[in-house]
Amino acid sequence: MSVEKVETLVIGAGQAGIAMSEHLGKRGAPHLVVERQRIAERWRSERWDSLVANGPAWHDRFPNKLFDKTGPDGFAPASQIVDYLVDYAEQVKAPVRTGVEITSLRKEGEVFIAETADGVIEAKNVVAATGPFQKPIIPPVVPQESGISQIHSANYHNPAQLPEGAVLVIGAGSSGVQIADELRRAGRKVYLSVGPHDRPPRRYRGKDFVWWLGALGQWNIEALQPGLEHVTIAVSGARGGHTVDFRELAASGITLVGPTQKYQDGVLSFSGDLEKNIAGGDANYLGMLQAADAYIAKEGLDFPEEREAHHLGPMPACATDPLLTLDLAKAGVTSIIWATGYALDFSWIKLDIFEPNGRPRHKRGVSEVPGLYFLGLAWLSRRASPFIWGVWHDADYLAGQIAARG
Ligand SMILES: Cc1cc2nc3c(=O)[nH]c(=O)nc-3n(C[C@H](O)[C@H](O)[C@H](O)COP(=O)(O)OP(=O)(O)OC[C@H]3O[C@@H](n4cnc5c(N)ncnc54)[C@H](O)[C@@H]3O)c2cc1C
Repeated sequence: MSVEKVETLVIGAGQAGIAMSEHLGKRGAPHLVVERQRIAERWRSERWDSLVANGPAWHDRFPNKLFDKTGPDGFAPASQIVDYLVDYAEQVKAPVRTGVEITSLRKEGEVFIAETADGVIEAKNVVAATGPFQKPIIPPVVPQESGISQIHSANYHNPAQLPEGAVLVIGAGSSGVQIADELRRAGRKVYLSVGPHDRPPRRYRGKDFVWWLGALGQWNIEALQPGLEHVTIAVSGARGGHTVDFRELAASGITLVGPTQKYQDGVLSFSGDLEKNIAGGDANYLGMLQAADAYIAKEGLDFPEEREAHHLGPMPACATDPLLTLDLAKAGVTSIIWATGYALDFSWIKLDIFEPNGRPRHKRGVSEVPGLYFLGLAWLSRRASPFIWGVWHDADYLAGQIAARG
């Protein structure tokens, strides 16, 4: 079995691994990036075909490169994000080796031992850049024997892959609402199971939501407010970008239902808090408008008025008188898409540094084990951490830490 020695091993060649390579390279720190599949694999095979970036191209990018096919206010399609990351890896001369999976990582003395199918890589430092969204979660609600096709949003690509019939999309974050909308536009009957969520305005008074997050200091928030950890966010860059509005989704023909609770004898039941969840999303939306208005007033900015944005229509009938049960066969539902998020899976790291929820113990990505770093995780240093531009700054910090180790 071969043994290769490197100073710093970066595991994963998504945006995090590539940004890490850039910053290590700038500091003259020798390193190797290994990727089990291809550069930007998740953007290639674990997202749906029509996905576009959630943020406009002026924002969702690295500082040193523009999206040349998407104008600054456009939303880059996933395929262009792949091209962008591949080109960027070339631009920064990232030493990426694809097709190499690290199957286990341990530490012997001062040295990390990373195992691959072809041998061992020994490293003084290791950066785990394997993504914020690693293992799709499908709650064990509907048994496989139900005969209903069940997939996670990570495996949804387009409407044609689903069996004929109605679809229940469970989860109304950015993935769930966009997939539900795409299926409805493809002529499917769609049910959408809606839990607590935020749904900020896409644009307000001439500025995109991501601009407002910057102006209001929210990208730099270091931790989620206690109690809001599980609130998903529904934003969309689809069709030029728009505010996610559950009234519009209902008016378009999607039947909204509350959070999915249990399954028995072909019948799914939903909790009765759909209206409360929509109202919670409305409060988030209106709160953002108010915060933006206050900012404009405080800074004396001459931004156009947009009073109509404050007027929300009445609650949709499916929310005021919600379905509490759904007989799947009677409703013609043949598939369920679980847009229910992801868990971390660091089971390949054989070190005692993980919380029960799978998160590594770390400070800004610096773990308790000297020489081991994490990059790209949600809330690694702040809200921006898992996003394309945020991870670049976290990588800069970690490269500084690694260089300082000597
Ligand atoms: C549906 C969806 C839409 C999103 N849209 C946006 C957006 O518009 N803008 C934005 O900024 N962010 C977006 N994100 C968030 C985030 O930017 C992406 O999740 C992004 O892919 C994270 O990049 P990463 O490099 O941290 O991790 P990943 O892209 O997950 O890359 C990790 C890489 O590590 C590899 N790997 C994993 N384990 C191993 C191993 N053991 N050995 C070797 N290689 C390994 C994987 O193959 C993968 O290529 C979105 C996320 C989702 C789920």
